[in-house]
Amino acid sequence: MKYRDLFSLRNTPQSQAIPGTIANSAGGYSFPVDDWTRLDRFLILGSENGTYYASPRKLTVENAEAVLRCIAADGQRAVNRIADISDSGRAAKNDPAIFALAMCTAHPASRNAALAALPRVARTGTHLFQFATAVEGFRGWGRGLRRAISSWYLTPPLDRLALSAVKYQQREGWSHRDMLRLSHPVAAADDSGRRAVFDWICRGTESELLPSLIQGTIEIRAAISASEAAVIIRNRRLPREIVPTEYLNAPEVWDALLADMPVLAMIRNLAKMTAIGLITPGSAATRHIQSVLSNAQTLRSARLHPVHALLALATYREGKGLRGKLTWKPVTEVIDALDAAFYLSFQQVKPTGKRLMLALDVSGSMWGSQIADSGLTAAAGSAAMAMITARCEANYEIVAFSDNRRRSGVWAEIDSLDPVNISPRQRLDDVLNVTRELSVNMGGTDCALPMLHALKNKRMIDTFIIYTDNETWAGKIHPVQALQKYRNTTGIQAKLAVVGMCSNGFSIADPNDGGMLDVVGFDTAAPQLISAFAAGELGALPDEPAPGEDS
Ligand code: CA
Repeated sequence: MKYRDLFSLRNTPQSQAIPGTIANSAGGYSFPVDDWTRLDRFLILGSENGTYYASPRKLTVENAEAVLRCIAADGQRAVNRIADISDSGRAAKNDPAIFALAMCTAHPASRNAALAALPRVARTGTHLFQFATAVEGFRGWGRGLRRAISSWYLTPPLDRLALSAVKYQQREGWSHRDMLRLSHPVAAADDSGRRAVFDWICRGTESELLPSLIQGTIEIRAAISASEAAVIIRNRRLPREIVPTEYLNAPEVWDALLADMPVLAMIRNLAKMTAIGLITPGSAATRHIQSVLSNAQTLRSARLHPVHALLALATYREGKGLRGKLTWKPVTEVIDALDAAFYLSFQQVKPTGKRLMLALDVSGSMWGSQIADSGLTAAAGSAAMAMITARCEANYEIVAFSDNRRRSGVWAEIDSLDPVNISPRQRLDDVLNVTRELSVNMGGTDCALPMLHALKNKRMIDTFIIYTDNETWAGKIHPVQALQKYRNTTGIQAKLAVVGMCSNGFSIADPNDGGMLDVVGFDTAAPQLISAFAAGELGALPDEPAPGEDS
């Protein structure tokens, strides 16, 4: 029966299509993800670095087209999705959300909803300026847009507006003065503080009606010593952005800043504060940092994203900056606190008690794509993601796979899947180090390997969790067929959760199989979604508490 070799629904090489699949970028066939999933991937993973296979422009154009299709299908839903992901801090960077929201303001199906959602997505002055730049790519400055900008200035509490005004005076070629001149907000007659702020922004007018933060900004410009600056910083609770550069080497200035320092600013300045001698083993500053980084609620309202914690850890433990100017002696308590903050910054996960296989795709392409413009490779990011699930589960094994059969020249028998010696009891920098060693084994991508490995080695698995870019091509059987084979052979109705690590349009999960799920890598909600899916409770997720202000 020759036809059997020419077409099979049970044993098809990944280089051939099966029903429902489309050609992926690697020369194989995967399922297309729907536009809403792609919107999530774009918002969370971004596309400004492209992937191993797609240039930044190609990937961004594809994602933008998916956003447009979402808008046309349901404008309000698109805006809600963008605002929810942005506002809940599920993404490491806000840029994709701002870009997508700007697109929404140009389409009749979403225009009004998008303008109304502006303060939820553009939460700081910088966000607003980024939005102003993005929106010019899609539309002109009509009345509705000007009114939305105007209410951005009129609505927030005065202290918050003052913080935006002093902290982000200009970015992206825009300033608050430009914004005010474009939008002409008129403060209510009894809102004299706000009128004073507008006057200060537009004309530099000083008055006693100005909020304390702006008074402090004026005072610190006139300070003549670091100790005087430190007093003003404490009294007025000034942020670092306002402090004149000449005082930024004084420990007393940083000590004053640290008292009110937002979490993100804090983790960005750990090296500096260590270099100048404020952070030392057991110092008051160190204890303060430990206490902030161990408070889940604080981290959440600061929208600390796990990517931020992971990168801060990776940089801080090096003891020298990327450009090599600053050096410091890393303090272990700080590294440990960052390690703990990484786990705390994900939504809480409950153990499922299921038998899990966490499978990391370490093929070549996973080292050529990065997470949300962070410098973190998709491969290393996968290992960090896997730690979250591993940390709260008892029955799991972690494996890494790539297809090396071609390189070895022997097609059939070499199983290119190995247990990985990483555990959530290790610190994340060790995990990343071990992961880096896996790159010597990298080869082609065969996402069927985890299921084939489990079959061959008689592993009882309830849920496979595969961290991949979904660009599978090298295998002799499609991943969904391998899963079906596993189900048929073992009698276990095994599930497959696919953690997508790139914002492309592919998935190895069959959208018509309820036992398969797509989640987005480095979504802070991903571990919780995976756990609910594995436990069979998906759809019953609790609402998340609303975070507070961006720092
Ligand atoms: Ca690959």
